[in-house]
Amino acid sequence: MSTHIESKIYLTRRSEKRPETPLLSVIVPVYNEAEVIPHFLKETGEILEQTGLDYEYVFIDDGSRDATADVLEQQIAEGLPARLLGLSRNFGKEAAMSAGLDHAHGDIVIIVDVDLQDPPSLIPQMIDGWRAGYDVVYGLRVDRSSDTLMKRSTARMFYRLFNKLANIEMPPNAGDFRLLDRAVVDALLQLPERNRFMKGLFAWVGFPAMALPYERPARRAGNGKWNYWKLWNFAIDGLTGFTTMPLRIWFYGGALLSGIAFAYALYLVLRVFFTGIDVPGYTSLMVTLLFFSGIQLLSIGMIGEYVSRLFNEAKQRPVYLLQDVIEGKVPGKNTGTET
Ligand code: UDP
Ligand code: MG
Repeated sequence: MSTHIESKIYLTRRSEKRPETPLLSVIVPVYNEAEVIPHFLKETGEILEQTGLDYEYVFIDDGSRDATADVLEQQIAEGLPARLLGLSRNFGKEAAMSAGLDHAHGDIVIIVDVDLQDPPSLIPQMIDGWRAGYDVVYGLRVDRSSDTLMKRSTARMFYRLFNKLANIEMPPNAGDFRLLDRAVVDALLQLPERNRFMKGLFAWVGFPAMALPYERPARRAGNGKWNYWKLWNFAIDGLTGFTTMPLRIWFYGGALLSGIAFAYALYLVLRVFFTGIDVPGYTSLMVTLLFFSGIQLLSIGMIGEYVSRLFNEAKQRPVYLLQDVIEGKVPGKNTGTET
């Protein structure tokens, strides 16, 4: 797969400022993944060695209840160049990625799933993209046949809706699998919000980006953690985090309906003058009553969504809590080839 689709052409490339021998941080959120970690380390390790760069892994144990932490600790004891961040409970992948970004030391950072659905064989191409001057090189899933039809079509709808409503452009089918330059990581670290919808934040910070198409294979081992209810809530987080359009819709909807209601009221009053009072009208009353109560509940619910987000942001709680950090023998920034 050597066809790079350049999502945008930028005039200013900043490759001249970049370190010759960058330190690479590989951020890996893990949640109950003991089974797949050995496969991941074997495949990814080979590729990382081939790049010839200094690298460190940043594993985030997102409150796993299986042997995930033990497996990683064991690996670190045996010399794996890794940092293991243990979160105090399961905070979800978005928070885990934020933790990883906070604790990555690299000049470049690559975020990757542990289940090998993000093929590590793309890492060298990502680094090439970075050397060519791109600050972001993101994987673009051209073939999602490993996902169900339902997941694919709902995902497509979500991306379409998001890009219509939000003022930023989120490339459809781009996952979290991506390379970020230090500049981008620092930009992300400056964003204070608690609602970490990372795909939206990645898009929001901007920077020259390149797409790297790939076919997404099925998970190597273990089970996926998503279900439709979680995805639905994730979508609401995404939308409410990046657009207030749903609130504005009710303003226009309300204006239109009041206009219609006013005209109808006028008509009713005039009719009384000309043809006298008529009693029947139960159906029309009932219909309007139900219709408007429905709309009111819906719009209150929508406002509630935003109020609840405000509530969460106002509490100023941290995005995640670190329980412990296990530091392996990781290479120092731009030093020899100690791996
Ligand atoms: N993950 C996590 N916390 C969670 C759920 C998932 O850190 O609460 C990690 C998981 O271990 C994996 C990655 O996020 O490395 C993607 O998870 P999964 O394969 O379940 O998602 P999918 O591939 O279906 O998007
Ligand atoms: Mg997966």
